[in-house]
Amino acid sequence: MINVSHLTKKYHRFVANNNLSFIVNDGEIAVLAGPNGAGKSTAIKCIAGLLRFEGEIEIGGYNNKSLEAKRILGYVPEIPAPFELLTVWEHMEFIARAYRLEHWKERAELLIRRLELDDKRDKMGKELSKGMQQKISICCALLIEPKVVLFDEPFVGLDPHAIKELKAMLFELKAKGTTIIISTHMLDSVEEFWDKLLIMMNGRVEAERERRFVEKSGENLEELFFQITEKQPSASSKTEGTP
Ligand code: ADP
Repeated sequence: MINVSHLTKKYHRFVANNNLSFIVNDGEIAVLAGPNGAGKSTAIKCIAGLLRFEGEIEIGGYNNKSLEAKRILGYVPEIPAPFELLTVWEHMEFIARAYRLEHWKERAELLIRRLELDDKRDKMGKELSKGMQQKISICCALLIEPKVVLFDEPFVGLDPHAIKELKAMLFELKAKGTTIIISTHMLDSVEEFWDKLLIMMNGRVEAERERRFVEKSGENLEELFFQITEKQPSASSKTEGTP
């Protein structure tokens, strides 16, 4: 579970996240949607414990900066940053040692095979394309069998096979009860699997919807998204799953 309470993040005087509060339960996929600059990456970096912020964030019941939280958290950044001089397989080994994983090799093999990195296993980080580097990030994040995973724009830059495989992995993680946040500026990339949708604009969550309510109401989310992000006056709603 992720519990974000009154998260405010300022870069000097600029407010990038303005008093965000939301909960993502076990087995739920929450989508942070919004145009470029809405504040999605900032929120994800705050949740990942990479930035200082005001407010409180809990991961699996632990303060997000605690070791307990870090142990159960996987993070796939928007811009991959692999170790330049480690090979694909050495990344797996590094994560396994850092997290003191046992019996990880079979799992690592499966991950790199599913993301078609197995023939690149001896290539160094700096020798890989951006898409391949992103696949390493995904393998590293999932190798630890995280209880909570944050994906920042995960589909941008991946090839169609990897997108299909990642979507299958998301369904598997969800079925295992993993808590997931995905940020995206493209609603259609997540339409099959979101449970909670948070539409962000100018650092705020302007609308929050739950799938089960939207399925009943038939609300058009694309329209809602554009109302909010193109700033038409009717858009400033922040209602919890209204039918
Ligand atoms: P998104 O992920 O929705 O595209 P970001 O969280 O990356 O949005 O950015 C939100 C706002 O914060 C943008 O206006 C961006 O320019 C600003 N911003 C992001 N990172 C920094 C930074 N390190 N320093 C100053 N401003 C930043």
